[in-house]
Amino acid sequence: SERVLGGLARTTEKLSGNLTGIVGGARLSPEQLDVIEDALILSDLGPRAAARIRDRLAEVRFDAGINDVSIKAAVAEEIAAILRPVAKPLEVTAFPRPHVVLVIGVNGSGKTTTIAKLAHLFQEEDYAVMLAAGDTFRAAAIGQLGVWADRLGVPIVKGPEGGDPASVVFDAVKAATDRGTDALIVDTAGRLQNKRELMDELAKIRRVLGRLNPEAPHDVVLVLDATNGQNALSQIEVFKEVAGVTGLVMTKLDGTARGGVLVAAAEQYGLPIHAIGVGETIDDLRPFDPDLVARVIA
Ligand code: GDP
Repeated sequence: SERVLGGLARTTEKLSGNLTGIVGGARLSPEQLDVIEDALILSDLGPRAAARIRDRLAEVRFDAGINDVSIKAAVAEEIAAILRPVAKPLEVTAFPRPHVVLVIGVNGSGKTTTIAKLAHLFQEEDYAVMLAAGDTFRAAAIGQLGVWADRLGVPIVKGPEGGDPASVVFDAVKAATDRGTDALIVDTAGRLQNKRELMDELAKIRRVLGRLNPEAPHDVVLVLDATNGQNALSQIEVFKEVAGVTGLVMTKLDGTARGGVLVAAAEQYGLPIHAIGVGETIDDLRPFDPDLVARVIA
């Protein structure tokens, strides 16, 4: 239901507040289209998605007239059209097992929590899961992932603080292979302030993985904090370059009026959106439902 999307509703209030009062006949005027385009940009949909939606709305015939209800429905439909092609749940498909999911993102984005939520989701689908604490740079990160692993009852492979992340990943893939684990979820460091080092670290992890299984990693999931608004987009840019991102999870959509950034990301990058985070507990990862999100945003 729309209630679970909690704070995304704040994006709604912001956008629909700015759409209120647009009335007319069958066609939107250029001035009304300007107002809509500005409202979309203010709601973090970004200039590209806003311009695309404007162009589409210019073609729409409102047979029953333009009012609050019809305009919101039309905007929701155009947002959904942008989101539908990127909605794609994360699936455990790899043979031979394990299916390896590398999780990347800046510190504070909700990476650790998202790993725990994904592990929980896979468990609910009856998969055997293992975690690898590949962010060896932060002792707190290893500890926190360990707490989640205990709570979920999933095995975790850790190395010493400051140890080599690639060696943790190597040990984890071996352990997962030996145990017949279905899904191995790997945490990684999120130190974007040292891009070169991070790039080398992720490249080394990929080399080690590739040696054990040429198909791995099967997914490289970038975790983005929606409260960062348009900055989330520049993170996609950088992580695509350093890590070869294959999909996104957007977190903290419960606490922000900046949910429109999902639409900007979908329009600009076309990367699959696997799920959205709507809270701090283990159950607060939702499948990405483009029509629901579009309705809530508009
Ligand atoms: P990391 O540094 O990227 O590993 O981030 P954490 O997983 O430790 O998360 C940082 C903070 O954001 C923690 O307080 C989490 O509880 C919180 N958090 C993570 N995901 C969400 C979410 O979807 N909604 C909310 N409200 N908080 C979240």
